[in-house]
Amino acid sequence: MTASATDHPGPILGLDVGGTKIAALLVDDGDRELARRSFPVDGRPLADQVVAAARSTLDAVGAEVRPAAIGIGAPGQIDPEAGTLRLAVNLSEAALPIATIVGEALGVPCWVDHDARAAAAWLYQRAGGSESLGSLAYLSVGTGISAGVIVDGRLLRGVSGLAGEVGHLLAVPEGPTCACGLSGCLEAVAAGPAVARLAADAVAAGRGGALAAGADAAEVYRLAEAGDEAARRIVADVGRHLARAIRGLALAFGVDHVVVGGGLARAGATFLQPILDELERERRASALVREAIGPQHIELLPAGMEAGTWGAVHIARSGLRATSPDPDQRREVADG
Ligand SMILES: [Zn+2]
Repeated sequence: MTASATDHPGPILGLDVGGTKIAALLVDDGDRELARRSFPVDGRPLADQVVAAARSTLDAVGAEVRPAAIGIGAPGQIDPEAGTLRLAVNLSEAALPIATIVGEALGVPCWVDHDARAAAAWLYQRAGGSESLGSLAYLSVGTGISAGVIVDGRLLRGVSGLAGEVGHLLAVPEGPTCACGLSGCLEAVAAGPAVARLAADAVAAGRGGALAAGADAAEVYRLAEAGDEAARRIVADVGRHLARAIRGLALAFGVDHVVVGGGLARAGATFLQPILDELERERRASALVREAIGPQHIELLPAGMEAGTWGAVHIARSGLRATSPDPDQRREVADG
């Protein structure tokens, strides 16, 4: 097959829109990074912030570099056909035609899809796709918690587009109120803001150890690594909840390979070990769990690997392929 325009479309801009920051990555056809930027999310309208992040990233490389396409990864309920996002409980609940707004503002074709799902599709493709992996779940643990799930080579989207929103499965009956309106969701006890809240609760109750009142999740993990007992208790609780979520992914979807990423996972072994400890306890107790998933199949996203922004790049490339006039190009990779 001769190289076509969609094989070498030119630079691609990926934007990973999270609850606390917008991460941008501009790459060339050979996946070389041309620019990488991060912008804190503030109170302005979300679309304005995404447009500003895109412009600022492109300004950094100069006017001669013009992206062929923009991909946006975002949480919530995404309609990739319509280019809208809604029900992103940490961002905005109203339907937002983000792909149209950003595409028109920059004058570049733009696609949007679910962040964790796009990261899963990218990781799956990177690992060699169905030739080497039958299934994969990518569990993102940051401001929110969600999963992208690939089973038998197919990325699960669900009729509602909400497949993988495991952050809103029940973790603690009658537990803390979640941003989604329910109580006791996994996200309300194991995502970044929950870790900070648990630290504040421990300080208020006089059992905060070395924790300070305003400690964020990164600080809690840093102190846990340093051996602080109060921080270690919080980290162990979070690990237990996440291990149960991973068991849920393995049993509900039949995935046997789980990659964990997101802001909290940056704490590395301090984050992962409590998860593995709880899974080991469950595996000892249950032949079913032993059969479903082994510790060798749970891995952290390698340090420095930004699956969110690469997933967003993947969204743009998939969009270009899907709209290519060349039918050979319209093949789908894990429906990414
Ligand atoms: Zn919830």
